[in-house]
Amino acid sequence: MSRPTNFGAGPSALPESVLHQAARGLLDFNNTGIGIAEISHRSKEFTAFLADTENLIRTQLDIPQTHSVLFTQGGGSAQFSAVVLNLLARHRLLHPDRTNAERAMDYVITGSWSKKAAEEARRLGGGTVNVAVDARAYSKDGRSFDGIPTHDTYTFSPDPALIYYCENETVDGVEFSNDATSAASFPFHLLPKDTLLPLVGDHSSSFMSRPIPHLAEHAVIYAGAQKNIGPAGLTILIVRKDCLVDVDAAAKLGAVPVPLTMAYKTLADSASVYNTPAVLPIYIAGLVLKRSQELGGVKYYEEVNKRKAAKLYAVIKEGEAKGVVRAKVKEGSGSLMNVVFDVLGDGAEAKFISGAEALGMKAIKGHRYGSVGGIRVSLYNAVTEEQTDALIAYMKEFLAQ
Ligand code: PMP
Repeated sequence: MSRPTNFGAGPSALPESVLHQAARGLLDFNNTGIGIAEISHRSKEFTAFLADTENLIRTQLDIPQTHSVLFTQGGGSAQFSAVVLNLLARHRLLHPDRTNAERAMDYVITGSWSKKAAEEARRLGGGTVNVAVDARAYSKDGRSFDGIPTHDTYTFSPDPALIYYCENETVDGVEFSNDATSAASFPFHLLPKDTLLPLVGDHSSSFMSRPIPHLAEHAVIYAGAQKNIGPAGLTILIVRKDCLVDVDAAAKLGAVPVPLTMAYKTLADSASVYNTPAVLPIYIAGLVLKRSQELGGVKYYEEVNKRKAAKLYAVIKEGEAKGVVRAKVKEGSGSLMNVVFDVLGDGAEAKFISGAEALGMKAIKGHRYGSVGGIRVSLYNAVTEEQTDALIAYMKEFLAQ
């Protein structure tokens, strides 16, 4: 029996072949006779698997030795706090005499997730949040996140404790372009000149979907696994080594204390097994990443994902010309991963959703927050081009009716 297509935003579709492999691993992990959910995280078989998984990420993203790859838990939300705590501790060690007002944390706000991250930074204190740009100020209605602001709208602090952005806004469907010539690219050239820039990127919903521009210039890149690479419960961090700081030494100088499970140095010093890691999610992510490497890695996915999204945006445009649908995001800022639009007319949205479900296409209802709503189609790596084409064929039929 064929499974329905899952266009959900996360947790989301995983490759079917991997699910079959994982099911076998639940009974017998790598011929140990012990299931993956039962085996010790300190066993040589699991630690070897963890090292291989790290290498799969390193090779595909071309991560230099200046950066550590770490595995943790707590999702993207725990990183909203952890990046602030670790980078404020680092800033404290570098500049012990500054006041909290002199510890700027620059937030680039392009959607619901970066907004939430900035709110957490404000809550934690220890520094001062500076909104480098808020995309709503440049939106069509003055209150929605409907595009990436142009480069002239950003203001960065001269020597901040951190600079934060979210590469792909999962709820709002807005994504930085990774083409440097695009007006919707991230303004890397405007950042303060610093060889150890405290640049933080939330890549949760675009991780492993394409190469990461300027990766080596980042202090921290993080991603929850539950979009492109595995189940929820695993968070992957890429941390530049100067950000693996002694948080207790920083606390002695007045920095906000950092729980050890959140301290990047603890994770790095223990090779991500300070405490029990998310063994099963790591296993599934490892299988997904091995498959993705065999297919050609992030470059392969970038091509396929671009084609999938381009076709979907084209049919949305067709629908706009007919007055049946409306794109929510400005042209050029649309996400390759989460495509959001409205179906216009009384009851039309419900009809669109139920028609899709009848054809086995699930989870296309937009985010529950009232401000967004509408339709959201997520085209993560595991959603194939054929599945995308089937949705497009259905949309064309819907438009014709
Ligand atoms: N950042 C982004 C871009 C996300 O899409 C999400 C979750 N969808 C989060 C952060 C929060 O992640 P979590 O639910 O794993 O805490």
